[in-house]
Amino acid sequence: MRSKAVAAGLAELVLGACCPGCGAPGPGTCAECRRQLNGTPPFIVGNLAAGLPPVLAAGPYADRLRRVLLAAKERGGLGLIPLLGGRLAAALAALALESGRAGPLVLVPVPSTPAQVAARGVDLTGALAQVAARRLRAAGLTVSARRGLAQVRRPQDQAGLDRAQRLVNLAGAFRPIGNRVRGQVMVVDDIVTTGATLVEAVRACRAGGGEVLGAAVVAATLRTVGPGTAG
Ligand SMILES: [Zn+2]
Repeated sequence: MRSKAVAAGLAELVLGACCPGCGAPGPGTCAECRRQLNGTPPFIVGNLAAGLPPVLAAGPYADRLRRVLLAAKERGGLGLIPLLGGRLAAALAALALESGRAGPLVLVPVPSTPAQVAARGVDLTGALAQVAARRLRAAGLTVSARRGLAQVRRPQDQAGLDRAQRLVNLAGAFRPIGNRVRGQVMVVDDIVTTGATLVEAVRACRAGGGEVLGAAVVAATLRTVGPGTAG
C-alpha cells in the first residue's frame, strides 16, 4: 500500500496525476479536452472598453479552457503552452482574416510582471506568442513575435477594480521598446476581462509607431458576452 502511494505521488510529480481540463486520470490534457478546446471556433469579443480595435478570443473563460489556463498560470503547467499557444494561433488567424491584411505581422505580448515570471518560471504570454507565431508561419503567414512593450510602473492589483478604475490604474503603464512595434501589430494576451489592459497595450504600440490591427487572447471572461460589472 505504502509503496503504491509513494509511486502515485512520484507519478504526480513527474507527469501530473490527471488532466487539468477535466480531472480524468493520466498525464497531461486528455484527448477529449484537446478535441473540445481545439474544436471551439474563435469569436469577436464584445462588451469591452471603448476604442479598442477588434479583439478575438479562442474560447470563453469557462469550464475546460479556464481550468487549463489556471493550471498553466498557477501550477507551473509549462507542458500546456503548446496547446494554449495553438489556441492563441487560432484566434490570431481569425483576426488576420477579419483584418484582411497579409502582414508581415508582428505579435506583441502584453508584458508579464517580474513577479509573474518568477512565480510561473516562464513569461507565459511571451511563450504563448512564440508558439502562436510558429503555428502561423507553418500556415504560410509572415509573422514574428517580439517583446515590444515594457512595464513603466507596476499597476496596483486589478482585482476588485471596475472597468473605469482599471483604465485609470493602467494608463501609461507600458512603453514601447525601441523600434520593436513598427509594422502591422497584433497585441496578444492570455485572458481579456474588461479590455483595460489591451487599451493600454494598444496605446503603447501606437506610440511606438505600430499599426495595430487588433488583439487576440486565449480566453474571454463571460462578462464580455453579456452584461457585467467588475471582473
Ligand atoms: Zn480532460
